[in-house]
Amino acid sequence: MKRLLIATNNQGKVREFQELLAGSGIDFVTPAQINLQLEVEEDGTNYEENAGKKAIAFANASGLISLADDSGLEVEALGGAPGLYSARYSPKPGAKDKDRRDFLLENLKDKPRPWKAHFHATIAIGIPNGMVQFAEGDCFGEIIPEERGSGGFGYDPIFFIPELGKTMAEFSMDEKNHLSHRARALMAAMPILQSVLSE
Ligand code: IMP
Repeated sequence: MKRLLIATNNQGKVREFQELLAGSGIDFVTPAQINLQLEVEEDGTNYEENAGKKAIAFANASGLISLADDSGLEVEALGGAPGLYSARYSPKPGAKDKDRRDFLLENLKDKPRPWKAHFHATIAIGIPNGMVQFAEGDCFGEIIPEERGSGGFGYDPIFFIPELGKTMAEFSMDEKNHLSHRARALMAAMPILQSVLSE
């Protein structure tokens, strides 16, 4: 079986993919493990374009089949924002995850609750000098005005799932890896991965 590269520099995503793939029988490496430093500009107009661009760039640079994802948080009351721009959603230079959460809450504060939202993930699997295939996943919930929990990353402390009474930052790794948009996208990508890695 061929080796898979987890094509992301986001340490939160690296941790999740490592957990998700452990026990799958897939032999995988991270960019750090193969000394690959690559920044890909996310200038696409949709999730597929960005994920595809990252997967191809990492595959061609490493010679390995590469799995990239592009994800975002879509908030109904904000017409789907921050969406594709979730990683860059703050006017502050050098903004961190907390600044982006604060900016989101600032933009929502006059809107009626519940602030319905969902996370979306598109996974792209790129073959060196070859084609790209895609899989998708979503996770539905709502934004709450106060932060809860210390796990996860990004918008997790304010993304609440009413059915479970918890934010994503209160999930155990195991819970997030069953329910998240990325977990669902990876589940949908499994048949593609099994097929391209065994060819
Ligand atoms: P990108 O996929 O690298 O463009 O980054 C997507 C951005 O969406 C991240 O930087 C986070 O701000 C947000 N995001 C994506 N997935 C999650 C998640 O599982 N929890 C919290 N925030 C997330």
